[in-house]
Amino acid sequence: MVSPPLATYGSCMPPRTDALLARLVPLAPRRVVAGVAARYIAGDDLLDALAVARGLDARGIRSTLDILGEAVTDEREADAFADGYVDAIDRLVAAGLEPHVSIKPTALGSELDWDACGRRVRRIMAAATAVGGTVNLDMEDAATTDGTIALYRELRAEGHDNLAIVLQARLHRTRADVAALAPLAPHVRLCKGIYPESAAIAYVDDAEIRASWLDCLEVLLAAGSYVAIATHADVLVRGALEALGRHGREPSSYEFQTLLGVREELVARLVAEGRTVRVYVPYGPQWYDYAMRRMRESPQVAGHVARAVVTRAVGRVHRPARRSS
Ligand code: FAD
Repeated sequence: MVSPPLATYGSCMPPRTDALLARLVPLAPRRVVAGVAARYIAGDDLLDALAVARGLDARGIRSTLDILGEAVTDEREADAFADGYVDAIDRLVAAGLEPHVSIKPTALGSELDWDACGRRVRRIMAAATAVGGTVNLDMEDAATTDGTIALYRELRAEGHDNLAIVLQARLHRTRADVAALAPLAPHVRLCKGIYPESAAIAYVDDAEIRASWLDCLEVLLAAGSYVAIATHADVLVRGALEALGRHGREPSSYEFQTLLGVREELVARLVAEGRTVRVYVPYGPQWYDYAMRRMRESPQVAGHVARAVVTRAVGRVHRPARRSS
């Protein structure tokens, strides 16, 4: 799939209208969602993802590959995800690209059996370790946080230092999680957290989420962690650069991470400044849930979906009826 240019997604609707439309996105026809999703998703299979990763690499941008899908309901499906990741690692190496993948516990069967999920993660780790690669344990909704951190700790205790974990500033617990993990100097992707959580366990106000994110970053930098700064928010990028400077961090001790199709001008600027940037490259046939999360998150994109629906509806009204022969 080819991503349309960034400008395509600018909205001519007022922001409040877009925010209202964001609530209607789940009602959009699937093919309209597919059209808009092309921006955020490399394609249906590994070959598409490798093509995107090669294109990024040519522009000095790294990538991490993610096979779309979550919450599998049977063990064979979970095994297939693990096979897919091992294959991705092999093919990245064969293509001369850095072997770096992002995995989700629920896609690897954590909701069926955490132990079996752990065995699949170990298989992927073994493949990555054999070629000097990195595996990133993504963080899903709050029901999975304890299990994911426990699995991370187990694998680190077994010596898997090439495993990274995601922590979500949105959750009240994350400052404490960061403090508890700090002695391990964990490799952390720090993000706001995309899953909607209840106000009982998560900040709702963006200023509070940003304050939590900056506090967590401070502790991770002090702990000597390699930090992946996963944000598209200018205010957090500025805050991170200030903190990195204060801690005297060398460019090799951190990286910026963004999602495919989002803030491409920010990526270009960071790369031009000589910083490491990694783009999250999702692929696979199970794109719908991922696309919906991206669209719900961005009211501007919701406005674009709404326009696409309206354009199609108007097109249908004005198109002359086809005559049957
Ligand atoms: P925002 O304030 O949401 O965004 C800042 C600006 O970026 C917006 O104003 C807009 O201009 C632009 N922007 C943001 N999103 C979009 C979009 N969809 N379309 C167009 N423009 C957009 N979350 C998890 O819960 N678990 C994970 O494992 C996880 N992994 C991630 C991996 C990477 C590499 C990244 C970058 C994010 C990941 N996230 C993950 C998502 C993250 O938690 C946030 O939901 C997401 O990054 C938006 O927050 P932000 O910091 O970019 O700030």
